[in-house]
Amino acid sequence: MSRTILRGRVLTFLDEPKARDDHQSYRYIEHGAVAIADGRVVGIGELDEVALEGAEVIDHQRDLIMPGFIDTHVHYVQMQVIGTYAANLLEWLNDYTFVEEQRFAQQGHAGYVAHRYFDELIRQGTTTAVAYCSVHPESVDAFFTEAARRNMLMVGGKVMMDRNAPEPLLDTAQRGYDESKALIGRWHGQGRALYAISPRFALTSTPAQLEAAAALMREHPDCYMQTHVSENDAEIAFARELYPDSPDYLGIYEDFSLLGPKSLMGHSIHLSHRETAVMAETGAVAVFCPTSNLFLGSGLFDRDRLMRAGVRIGVASDIGGGTSYSMLKTLDEAYKVLQLRQQRLTPLNSFYMMTLGNSRALGLEGRIGSIAPGRDADLVVLDSSATPAMALRMETVKSLSEELFLLQTLGDDRAVKAVYVAGASMKAA
Ligand SMILES: [Zn+2]
Repeated sequence: MSRTILRGRVLTFLDEPKARDDHQSYRYIEHGAVAIADGRVVGIGELDEVALEGAEVIDHQRDLIMPGFIDTHVHYVQMQVIGTYAANLLEWLNDYTFVEEQRFAQQGHAGYVAHRYFDELIRQGTTTAVAYCSVHPESVDAFFTEAARRNMLMVGGKVMMDRNAPEPLLDTAQRGYDESKALIGRWHGQGRALYAISPRFALTSTPAQLEAAAALMREHPDCYMQTHVSENDAEIAFARELYPDSPDYLGIYEDFSLLGPKSLMGHSIHLSHRETAVMAETGAVAVFCPTSNLFLGSGLFDRDRLMRAGVRIGVASDIGGGTSYSMLKTLDEAYKVLQLRQQRLTPLNSFYMMTLGNSRALGLEGRIGSIAPGRDADLVVLDSSATPAMALRMETVKSLSEELFLLQTLGDDRAVKAVYVAGASMKAA
């Protein structure tokens, strides 16, 4: 039975921050400790309050112990197209991404990339991610095999696409269903693995395939469903051309009964009032991908409007349209996107979003995203003085909120000092 006590400054969120310094929204312990037994948190408190017989004590001193970061939308199979030069989403997909994803048919390629993807996640302090794999079932096997090897709670699924892409990337409605079904049987609920039914988007799925995806959702209601919606003007126009009977882009997914509280809708930038209302009614999650939206020039996510309407929101890297694996950098860019909209994202809110906020978006708040007895011990340890520039800036920092803002603005993987996955150290302290 493994037992560990981590010492350091401890920060965990209790609820969504309602104001810039909403002290009710978090718990911060200056001289704190977290006790871990068999992969779970069993205690959190002041140094002298937390005891665990026979535990190894690891002292992180002034570093900040937080829940591991969560990324709610990423394409691990696009690691080698990050930073490819394109005018917009559809050009980027056709000229680079649909070419790159064909390589996952090659023996051994998925394993090669998956291994590096998980290494990168750990370097960045991300302990859970929701990933699109390629159309090839082997890419899903490689993803979950690597996740299991590291005992990480990961969500993923095979992309379903049966039109408007190069022939080698296409399945059919039936094959997409059969392969997804087999992968769900093989992986969903095995260890910490969770499956996401993944019709890529309406542009690359026939009505028959969206029906097949809905059938999988009905048969496996505890699986996620992930897709893309309303990212780019040309994409929206093409979707409406392909599905002229649906009222709007989101309406396509609505018509096929693909919307619900486990539906993760990547981008959700240019939603109409009707679409926004449908998102709120169905409990579907709008996933904000700031670095991707800026890189591809897709548009500025309207967080305030969605929040006012009661839409659930997640935040994500969207690698490889996105340009950083770091959730710190992702929220740095989220802040700037919202600045351009004259909307406020407080430092507390940023750190809430990448931890408890994203676990709530996934309905996993009982397992990950916060530090409390019973939660999985997925943790990140951050050093706010990791670089000379950060250390210099830290000299003038007077509050927790200012420190978090510094971490978000100047921090990246260099600020990640240690990562624990189900209580096991993944990176030397
Ligand atoms: Zn995406």
